[in-house]
Amino acid sequence: MKGKLIIFSAPSGAGKSTIVKRLLQQLPQLAFSISATSREPRPGEQEGQHYYFMSPEAFQEEINRDAFLEWEEVYPGLYYGTLRAEVERLWESGKQVVFDIDVVGGLNLKQQFGENALALFVQPPSLAILEERLRNRGTESEEKLQMRLAKAEQEMATASSFDHVLFNDHLEVAVNEALQKVKKFIEA
Ligand code: ADP
Ligand code: 5GP
Repeated sequence: MKGKLIIFSAPSGAGKSTIVKRLLQQLPQLAFSISATSREPRPGEQEGQHYYFMSPEAFQEEINRDAFLEWEEVYPGLYYGTLRAEVERLWESGKQVVFDIDVVGGLNLKQQFGENALALFVQPPSLAILEERLRNRGTESEEKLQMRLAKAEQEMATASSFDHVLFNDHLEVAVNEALQKVKKFIEA
């Protein structure tokens, strides 16, 4: 064990990436755990910055050689996972590591790392607003959007298993609350 984990989980569209980006700008002792995924890059996404993009076959090879701390088929046919080497690299550079991962992966890491992990659930005001945010983001086809919404309700039901629920209605309020929680955790 070399460092701490700060985990952000939520249904797609709740605002995890937006909040994480703001935290990374404000707290230089944090670094982002870049996950591996078998999904296609979105326009503007860079290899090794947003994700390590892999074919399904390459992803399976990484599973076989036990390279992942956790991995999930988050949506049918789409695999996402946290590479052990990525987290170790960041801890070795003296950083505390921030994760933007799905609720199952988030609770999995919390279970593995216990008190060394802070697991935050980002809660949108409602499912209707979640849908509106996903639509406004404009990154998904209608089919992919429906796939994300179909999972959101069951994901929302896991909120109470997290260390803390961050209500993301007004972004500035949510970012400030996240900052306070994370500062307290990394300074403890
Ligand atoms: P996630 O990473 O959880 O999938 P994003 O951070 O991509 O979600 O946010 C989804 C969309 O909602 C983005 O377009 C983002 O700009 C917007 N958004 C995030 N937080 C808020 C908020 N508090 N109010 C309104 N829009 C928001
Ligand atoms: P997106 O395709 O929108 O980037 O991510 C879809 C979902 O996969 C989000 O809930 C995101 O947090 C999650 N995710 C991203 N990386 C990982 C990971 O390494 N492990 C797990 N379990 N989920 C991840």
